[in-house]
Amino acid sequence: MKRLAQLSRSFAVARRFLPEVSGHGLKLAGVAGLYLAAILLELGRPWPLRWVIDDVLAPSGSPPANSGEIILYSGLALAAILAGKALLEYLATMLVAAIGHRVTRGLRLRVFRHMVGLSPDFHAKHRSGDLLLRLTGDVPMVKDMLVDAGVQMSVRGIQAIGIAVMLFVVDPVLAASVLLPLPLIALVVRFLSNHLRIAVRKQRRKEGELASYMHEAIEATVLLQALGREDHAIQRFARTNRTSARAGLKVARASARLGGAVEGMLALAFAGAMTFGAWRVHEGMLRLGELTVFLSYVRGLLKPIRAAAKHQARIAKGTACGERILRVLDEVAAIPPSAPGAQPPERPETLVFEGVHYTYADGTEALRGVDLRLLRGELAALVGPSGAGKSTLIALALRIFDPDQGEVRLGGIPLRELDLDAMREGVAISLQNTILFGESLRENLLLGSPEATEEELWAALEAAAAADIVRAQPEGLDALLGSGGVGLSGGEARRICLARALLRNADILIVDEPFGGLDRATALRLVETLRAAARDRIVLVVTHAVEHLEAFDRVVHLDRGRILGDGRHVDLLAGDRQYSRLVGEAQEVEL
Ligand code: ADP
Repeated sequence: MKRLAQLSRSFAVARRFLPEVSGHGLKLAGVAGLYLAAILLELGRPWPLRWVIDDVLAPSGSPPANSGEIILYSGLALAAILAGKALLEYLATMLVAAIGHRVTRGLRLRVFRHMVGLSPDFHAKHRSGDLLLRLTGDVPMVKDMLVDAGVQMSVRGIQAIGIAVMLFVVDPVLAASVLLPLPLIALVVRFLSNHLRIAVRKQRRKEGELASYMHEAIEATVLLQALGREDHAIQRFARTNRTSARAGLKVARASARLGGAVEGMLALAFAGAMTFGAWRVHEGMLRLGELTVFLSYVRGLLKPIRAAAKHQARIAKGTACGERILRVLDEVAAIPPSAPGAQPPERPETLVFEGVHYTYADGTEALRGVDLRLLRGELAALVGPSGAGKSTLIALALRIFDPDQGEVRLGGIPLRELDLDAMREGVAISLQNTILFGESLRENLLLGSPEATEEELWAALEAAAAADIVRAQPEGLDALLGSGGVGLSGGEARRICLARALLRNADILIVDEPFGGLDRATALRLVETLRAAARDRIVLVVTHAVEHLEAFDRVVHLDRGRILGDGRHVDLLAGDRQYSRLVGEAQEVEL
């Protein structure tokens, strides 16, 4: 029962991935055709030898006059059969490899596309190393199961049936005696492959942990060195590495047990067939050539059974890895896949939050009834202590997730009615924890607006006070940044990100903490840039830099998910006690 459940589990997992394979139906049909032809040749292979033995070498009467010809033609037939089979199998292997690569590519893209659409909650819950392993390591295993094992199991199954039929054609009694133990072998294969699957699942989990730890530790190398905690990290790594290796060893053992058990049972079956067959020849019930053909078929039967055991192992691995991938694919995207929604308004005048509530999955109420109306042509600042809900507000404006209650509207239309990609196209964002990939400065800048010209690029850099940063690099715009943007200071990276956001020339510009780590003159330049940008855009700047708030048309004060004050800096200072305290604290910190 359990084994049946396991088998149906493999089928259930494989079925979920069928869309990946079904697109290659024609090629798969080609593979099936090639293999079927190869199987027919394989079935014919023992017969030339039988002619030579029974007609020439050990004839029942006197040897025929054309013995030489029989030997020659038998040899030629055998050569043609072997060469034809080799060619057909070569072509089929090539085709299977091509399908396999396509399937891997398609599946990887599907998983990646799904992953990037998942909510920040999901990414906070899952460690990136483990997700990386699912994408790089698990996907090929699923491909192995779907394509390689799938094709081989079908082909070998047909081959086994063909051979079994031929065994009965040659000698039904001997055939029955050989095929009798087969169900037993099948049972053993099932049992051991179940063990293998469990071991593989554990191994993949351990490998995921190892990859995650590696990823985190490498990201935090500088911190580890600063704290002098390298030894601790190495010890922890060694421990994880050891458990992962142990899990790997268990898989190898389970795999070896499966292979060994099958080999042993097949050897017994072959020896039995030979002994019983020799006795039947001796008794005159079978001719010598027929026994040779028979034994050749039995050997041929071993091959598919051996292959079945091997592919059973692949299927076990593929099922375990497929389940890991399905766990990602079954995560519901924060934003339901958008039906081809409405196009966003041409020149939206407002971005409005209406009674917006948002609670994270762990129950943290980040926004508790926010009403906010941002206007084109107005430079607005969003201030509030850490944890006030500022990042959540920005995420809602980008529709990273939808509010639990209330609505966010762009130009009067709820965001959830708009085409997601088109809507995001209209937003440029420069985040505080700057996202720079290990590519050149130019590639980083062009990420959001690949069409921008060199002139526009430099204009944006000047506006973001970042042109000097680029000029200071020997390779200029082609300077390569380390992973995560190493090589630039925090303030420099932030200005590059601001340039990238400006370059997008979008209707909405959201800038998170642009002034950190800047001297006063540069900060003032940025204020001017933001003012200029706000002339024809909706601009929201999240900042703690209270000394610049006077320059804003409007300051929105957010605290614990509610808006406490909304107006000019001077008015808030007069009317919002918590605001004056916030500003006072910030000034103290600066002093
Ligand atoms: P701010 O940007 O003003 O510092 P956030 O919007 O990041 O504030 O956070 C608002 C509240 O939501 C905080 O209490 C924070 O701890 C919580 N929060 C933020 N992100 C998550 C998350 N992914 N899961 C659970 N709680 C979160």
